[in-house]
Amino acid sequence: MVSFKSNAKNYRDAESMAAAYLAAYFGNSEIEYPISPFEMLKDEGVDFVIRNFNKLEGVYIPAQNQDDIAIVGISANRPITRQRFTAAHELCHHFRDADKQVACPIGQKNASEYFADAFASALLMPMGELKVKVNEYKDYNGNVSFDDILKIADYFGVSFESCVRRIAYKIHAVEGDIESKELTKRIRKYKPDIKRKELGMSYENLYSDLIDNYAEQLKFAPNKYAKYVFENTYIYNDSRMEGLDVSIEEASEIVTDLRNNMQNSQYCTEKNEAYLSVAGHYLMYQDIFALPVKESLNVYDSFKLNKDLFAYYPHPEFGGNPRQNNVVISGAKFEAVDYHDIFSELAKVDNDIKIFFEDKDNIKVSDYIKHVIRTHHRITVIHPFPEGNGRTTRAFMNVQLVRAGLTPLYIKVEEKKNYIAALEKADTENNYDDLYECIFRVMIRSHVELSMNS
Ligand SMILES: [Zn+2]
Repeated sequence: MVSFKSNAKNYRDAESMAAAYLAAYFGNSEIEYPISPFEMLKDEGVDFVIRNFNKLEGVYIPAQNQDDIAIVGISANRPITRQRFTAAHELCHHFRDADKQVACPIGQKNASEYFADAFASALLMPMGELKVKVNEYKDYNGNVSFDDILKIADYFGVSFESCVRRIAYKIHAVEGDIESKELTKRIRKYKPDIKRKELGMSYENLYSDLIDNYAEQLKFAPNKYAKYVFENTYIYNDSRMEGLDVSIEEASEIVTDLRNNMQNSQYCTEKNEAYLSVAGHYLMYQDIFALPVKESLNVYDSFKLNKDLFAYYPHPEFGGNPRQNNVVISGAKFEAVDYHDIFSELAKVDNDIKIFFEDKDNIKVSDYIKHVIRTHHRITVIHPFPEGNGRTTRAFMNVQLVRAGLTPLYIKVEEKKNYIAALEKADTENNYDDLYECIFRVMIRSHVELSMNS
């Protein structure tokens, strides 16, 4: 690979440079699609981090000396297909511009930015394979429809737009007006994201690949900053998710009083439920972030969380006990299991938890997280507690992550709709793709926020 880098500046065009790199990278082995630009960065000895950028797609920071390594930054605020494209784009800078720091803006571009974009496009959609796909889908005029380009884009793990443009301008197999601005309009009108949803397509695979190549960065041990963020952001979020309308300012004084005086607090009444819940959340998260991190894990740890959640209520003995009747879950489309079966169902879940927890260092990180996500769904269906099942099982998801040394996550109010829909899809169709995609994305966003001060 060293030899590739030393020759990279000799390529006059990005297309031949990408083809040469693919040949060098894959050698005699067959190329698997979608190609992973994240893995390529790692294989070239480049670290990448996902961070909050406003006006940038990414940055390239070269190694400062022999002992240093190059770092690529990728915007957290862009879709996964764009993040993959940026990773490939920064790989080009690593090969050609490794002597200087490069900031890659959204929109306006100079010649070296255009070159890196062309490289990324050619790397992720190699011309030979793209022609194979176009031949597979083309009509009698030799053109490919937008519906089929959607499938081709999915195959390569790229955005619909970048795929349309490459097919239109490099293979000339898109019908109608393809003048740049006109094509943009046509793409917008087509609404590829909505179409993808309708066809049941998911980016779960692209997120899995990102997460597996990002496993080092997702490692986590409880620290003061994370605790601060959870106490001041997450807890209010989760209470607001349950429909409790409290602001941090309103709540802090009351919550402090509750935490100090518990059942003797003047605020310990049913009408202050919002505050009682926030105070209970604090207790749950003290447990989750306690050091040293426990080395064991079982499903019954969720009972302790539920007990914590209700610790400041007028009747705290309510918490941490199983449901004693059958319920219809309001707002959800699924039916909870019969309350007689709660413990036999939990025993099955516990068995899985033990297997995955013991095996966590031998399996892909994405597979461990998928198991945590499935467990989360199963416990919501078992619905073990009379109250607070959502809050408790979301907290338990974090117990499973933190005990495995992984970053905890929190779902924002604006992500709730998507999350609930994905939970329902898992339940009614036994299809977890949307839930995986949703939680993977939330986890990466949470990781970025928890890394703000590093
Ligand atoms: Zn750039």
